[in-house]
Amino acid sequence: MAEVLVVVEGSVKKVTLELLTIARTLGSPSAVVFGDVDQAKLAEYGAEKIYVAEASDYLVAPKATVVASLVRQKQPAAVLLGSTQEGKEIAGRLAVKLDNGLLTDAVEVAADGTATQVAFAGSTIVKSKVTKGLPIVTIRPNSVTPEPSAATPAVEQVTAELSEADKLTKVVERVTETKGSRPELTEAGVVVSGGRGVGNADNFKLVEELADLLGGAVGASRAAVDSGFYPHQFQVGQTGKTVSPQLYVALGISGAIQHRAGMQTSKTIVAVNKDPEAPIFELADYGVVGDLFKVVPQAADEIRKRK
Ligand SMILES: Cc1cc2nc3c(=O)[nH]c(=O)nc-3n(C[C@H](O)[C@H](O)[C@H](O)COP(=O)(O)OP(=O)(O)OC[C@H]3O[C@@H](n4cnc5c(N)ncnc54)[C@H](O)[C@@H]3O)c2cc1C
Repeated sequence: MAEVLVVVEGSVKKVTLELLTIARTLGSPSAVVFGDVDQAKLAEYGAEKIYVAEASDYLVAPKATVVASLVRQKQPAAVLLGSTQEGKEIAGRLAVKLDNGLLTDAVEVAADGTATQVAFAGSTIVKSKVTKGLPIVTIRPNSVTPEPSAATPAVEQVTAELSEADKLTKVVERVTETKGSRPELTEAGVVVSGGRGVGNADNFKLVEELADLLGGAVGASRAAVDSGFYPHQFQVGQTGKTVSPQLYVALGISGAIQHRAGMQTSKTIVAVNKDPEAPIFELADYGVVGDLFKVVPQAADEIRKRK
C-alpha cells in the first residue's frame, strides 16, 4: 500500500490523530515529526512509519524542505497536514517546492484524492482534486473522529540539506504560556461560548463558571472578542477556531453564519438567547428563550446539585 505522509508540525495533537485516521483510508500512514514527540500515540493511531527529522530553530521553511525531500524519495500517495497556521504555511511552501497543486481547509479526502471543502461558512460544499502532482491537502481540525488502530511503526531518522533561504527567520525566544486547568478549545468535549449578550468582560465569569462545572473550554463570538470581553484566541467561527465538541453551549450569541462556521458540527447545541427569533435557534438541539443572567445561574445550581 502506498505511503501517505502525515506532517506533525509540533507535538502530537488531536488533529494529528485525525490526520492518521484519514490517512489510513488512503494508504499506509507515515508520520513526519520534528524532534522528540509522543511516538507511542502515533503508533496507537496507526502510523506504520515515523520519519524523525531534527527540530530546528528556523521557523517553518526547514520543515517544508524536509517534507519535500521525503516526497521526492518516497513518492507517497498523498501528504496530509493540519489546517493550522503552520500546517498551511508548510503546505504552501511544499507545493511551491514540488511545483504541485494544493488544497486547503478540506474536511474529507476520498480514496481517489478528491477533497471536500466547506465554503462560504458552510453554505456550499466543494469537491476538488489536485490536477498536478500528488494530493497535498490540509485538513480542518475536528473534521473526523480519531480512531485508534494499533501499529508497530518503523522509525527512520531523516535529514535534509537546508539552504540559506531556509534560515532567513529564526526563533529567538520561546515563552510557554501558563496553561489553565481548562481543556484546549479545539480539543474540548464541551465548549461554553459567550457573545455580545454577555455584556462585558466581567460578566464572562458566568461563562467560565458554567464551562468549569461542565469540565469544558470557554469560547467567544467575534462581537464579544471585538468588544474586549474575551481574548482573541478564544474566538469561534470563520475567522476564529473551529470546534466540534460533544456539547456546545451558546450564551447570548445570535448565530450569525460566520459564527456557525466554527461550531455547526458540534454534536449537541444548546442556546440561551432572549430573542426567540435569534438564528441560533434554527441550529440548536435545545433552546432556552430567556435572559442568560437568570438562566445560567439556575443551570449552574442544578449541575452543582447533581455532582
Ligand atoms: C468576514 C467576517 C468574518 C467573521 N468571523 C466571525 C467569527 O469567526 N466568529 C464570530 O462569532 N463572528 C464572526 N463574524 C461576525 C458575525 O457576523 C457576527 O457579527 C457575530 O458573530 C455576532 O456576535 P454575537 O452573536 O455575539 O452578537 P450579536 O449578533 O449582537 O448577538 C447578541 C445576541 O445576544 C442576545 N442577548 C442579548 N442580551 C441577552 C441576555 N441578557 N440573555 C440572553 N441573550 C441575550 C441577543 O438577543 C442577540 O441574539 C464575522 C463577520 C465577517 C463579516
